[in-house]
Amino acid sequence: MKEIIIDGHKIPVHKFSAIIIGSGCAGFNAADTLFDLGQTDIAIVTEGINMGTSRNTGSDKQTYYKMAVQSGETDSVDAMAKTLFDGKSVNGDTALAEAAASLRSFMKLVNLGVPFPTNEYGEFAGYRTDHDTGRRATSAGPLTSKYMTEALERQVLSKGITIFDNTMIVKLITDNGCIAGAIGIDKTRLYDENMGFVIFLADNIILATGGPAGIYQNSVYPPSQKGMSGLAIGAGAKCANLQEWQYGIASVDFRWNLSGTYQQVLPRYISIDENGCEREFLPEYFENPADAVNLVFMKGYQWPFDSQKLSGSSMIDMLVYREEIELGRKVYMDFRSEPAVLKNGFEVLSDEAYEYLQKSGALISTPIARLAKMNPKAIELYKSHGIDLYSEPLRITVAAQHNNGGIAVDKNWETNISGLYAAGEVAGTFGVYRPGGSALNSTQAGSLRAAEHIRYGTHEKRADETCALENASILIEKWLKAVNKDNKTLNPAIFEKTKAIAAQMSACGAHIRRLKDLEKMKTDIAKMLENTESLLTEICPADLPGWFRLRDTGVTVQAVVSSMIYAGKYIGSRGGSIILEEDAAHGNTEYDDKVLVYDIHSGCSFEPVRLIPECNNWFETVWNEYNRRILQ
Ligand SMILES: Cc1cc2nc3c(=O)[nH]c(=O)nc-3n(C[C@H](O)[C@H](O)[C@H](O)COP(=O)(O)OP(=O)(O)OC[C@H]3O[C@@H](n4cnc5c(N)ncnc54)[C@H](O)[C@@H]3O)c2cc1C
Repeated sequence: MKEIIIDGHKIPVHKFSAIIIGSGCAGFNAADTLFDLGQTDIAIVTEGINMGTSRNTGSDKQTYYKMAVQSGETDSVDAMAKTLFDGKSVNGDTALAEAAASLRSFMKLVNLGVPFPTNEYGEFAGYRTDHDTGRRATSAGPLTSKYMTEALERQVLSKGITIFDNTMIVKLITDNGCIAGAIGIDKTRLYDENMGFVIFLADNIILATGGPAGIYQNSVYPPSQKGMSGLAIGAGAKCANLQEWQYGIASVDFRWNLSGTYQQVLPRYISIDENGCEREFLPEYFENPADAVNLVFMKGYQWPFDSQKLSGSSMIDMLVYREEIELGRKVYMDFRSEPAVLKNGFEVLSDEAYEYLQKSGALISTPIARLAKMNPKAIELYKSHGIDLYSEPLRITVAAQHNNGGIAVDKNWETNISGLYAAGEVAGTFGVYRPGGSALNSTQAGSLRAAEHIRYGTHEKRADETCALENASILIEKWLKAVNKDNKTLNPAIFEKTKAIAAQMSACGAHIRRLKDLEKMKTDIAKMLENTESLLTEICPADLPGWFRLRDTGVTVQAVVSSMIYAGKYIGSRGGSIILEEDAAHGNTEYDDKVLVYDIHSGCSFEPVRLIPECNNWFETVWNEYNRRILQ
């Protein structure tokens, strides 16, 4: 490590061949793979080693999607690539690479001890997940991604890979179209003379900062995951399909997806107004109230909101939104008593719902008794987070869960900025639909591809280190001069502005979108970003991480909202969202083979998808090419 003096303050400068930003299952796998490939001069920089989605989330049966390997299934790389590609607006080369890396990544996790179940002969049993064509899905239980992260972390620690914990990257430094490094802020040293600023120089950076969760108020991402996609967007990295998200019904006080048995036991949906007046609202919206409970049942295995299912299970998400956002009521799922329509028995249920409950021995009264019978752990989970489903209703919302789009990458997960890679959820390799569990496959495949390209790829040009340091120094000097070091009082405006943006996004830019409101939001955000610099003089050092986050949220929202408006105008309602304006386009399929690209300089445009490459897999040809690319 060396130091440079900026405005009289010593700023540490660390130099590595590659740094990885983020410690989720993408970040850890990137570092571990680089090390195994012999690229050992690397470091992970993370704002919090225990933060992020991978380590802190889960679901009923958290799914990992891989190529099917159990008997009775015939699967192949091209079949899996096609399923991914068929998700619409997906590039074929990344789909092929995700399929090709699937078994290799999965087996690595198995060998690291992630408990994916096998039968007595060692076969990995699979099940069919949403948007799947075979039984490719598996699960290590409710906490699959946590086990993955811990297993990969053990590898990284055992290899002694350097980790900068509590260090938030606040700016990427580029020069000549290439990545040069990043500026970080050590959150434990904000009151040091240099306010914790630190410079990292690296020819290669893998951005593994996860999904931009912090842009939504109604979110089922863990509270510790905010994301920081604006780092790359602001540096000029192009984005793909930022408008495509997954939203679904989740609990608020403890963030958890309410899929599977939580719905199949048929809870009562109630809302409560500001005077505490409670009503069961679903029956009001249906001519035959039995339809409501049957749709609730369907919601169990059709969890994400889908504009194709508006007259089906997604109507439940619409009605929850109406009660909460339009009528301003708090919405709950109540397991304590029976929905009104079931008060006289179960005969009103669809054959499917009736048979399911019957086979589960759960044709018994009250949703909580059914849940206790079918999935007692689901009750214990909430109990362990201080929520007793026997005595209180569960507050719910329609929450953001996953960004299918993200930073645009090529087949090596490299962005348009040479040497800058994006892997995991921050990368935009999915389109409208994706098979359940494919996000976790993508964290592993993308980080593997990026690591291999850093190790074996070639770059025609690189950044100039002196210019990079100069650029970094100018910025740090500006920030050091602006912030009053002696100020110890937090400025509430930072938190309030970030919170207000997230609330606005949930109201008009989630599963239900209004183009007029999004246009207004775009203008508001542009103004906010203009004024952010002047806020610097009104904050204390402890506000700095929040200030950088506010700025990043603004840049990210600007990109997401622009993409939503553009998609709304040309495509209309599609996948996980609907546009409410009557004159909006409606599911224009003309764009299913196009990727919506956002560029901070030129705005939005459509690009044709890159097709699945037709590869010449004649062994001798591949071997020769491999020897040239990898072994020499
Ligand atoms: C409720 C829920 C259920 C899910 N279920 C499934 C499922 O069943 N199957 C599936 O495939 N996917 C599922 N997902 C999605 C999947 O879990 C995530 O896409 C995946 O874990 C993301 O991993 P990641 O490594 O890309 O990012 P993360 O795990 O989110 O890690 C991001 C890391 O970057 C760090 N970071 C961020 N910004 C900075 C910065 N500026 N400086 C330094 N560090 C930074 C964070 O602290 C964190 O360490 C689910 C998601 C949720 C929320």
